[in-house]
Amino acid sequence: MTTTFESAAKNIIGAGNRLDTLGLAPATAGNYSMRLADGSIAITVSGAHKGLLEKKDIMRVDASGQPLEDKKPSAETLLHTVLYEQYPEANAILHSHSVPLVVLTNYHSREKFYHLEGYELLKVFPGIKTHDVRVSVPVFDNTQDMEDLGEQVRAVLKDRPASSAFMIRAHGLYGWGRTMNEAAQVVEALEVLLSCELETLKLKKR
Ligand SMILES: [Zn+2]
Repeated sequence: MTTTFESAAKNIIGAGNRLDTLGLAPATAGNYSMRLADGSIAITVSGAHKGLLEKKDIMRVDASGQPLEDKKPSAETLLHTVLYEQYPEANAILHSHSVPLVVLTNYHSREKFYHLEGYELLKVFPGIKTHDVRVSVPVFDNTQDMEDLGEQVRAVLKDRPASSAFMIRAHGLYGWGRTMNEAAQVVEALEVLLSCELETLKLKKR
């Protein structure tokens, strides 16, 4: 992987357009990054609308999340650095926000995993070749303490080398992949499956 800042910025801007079009980047929510060839990270700055990103809204931080230029990185930068550390093959990370995720993780307020089973779209996840499978996505309680959340994520994901996503309750989800396209597919698929889950729950409640 020989990603330059230029190509990473282009990919991040493209991902912002893609997720915004799908309604997965409301207001200034979400943050996106790519690992660069020198081990540093290109990441969105704090507060930018992800559907309207320009190159100036993307900056470099080092592998521990320290800014390498005079800008303020996303408040959740630490989670990106934890994921790049745990998943050496990952080169792109996307964080989306959606109504189904917020509603469902609140509804299942004590669950530490969200289980998805029997869906064709699960084949989007790396290594999965059939719908006849159960995928368990870790769910963490929301907090503004990124150090603490980073530790929890590290502890749960260290035994899950094949994972490509986790959720934060009442907040959003993180998806990652070897390329930006892979990360976007994980996020899109998971968000569609959560929409299916929510619609199903509504029908059952009638
Ligand atoms: Zn967030």
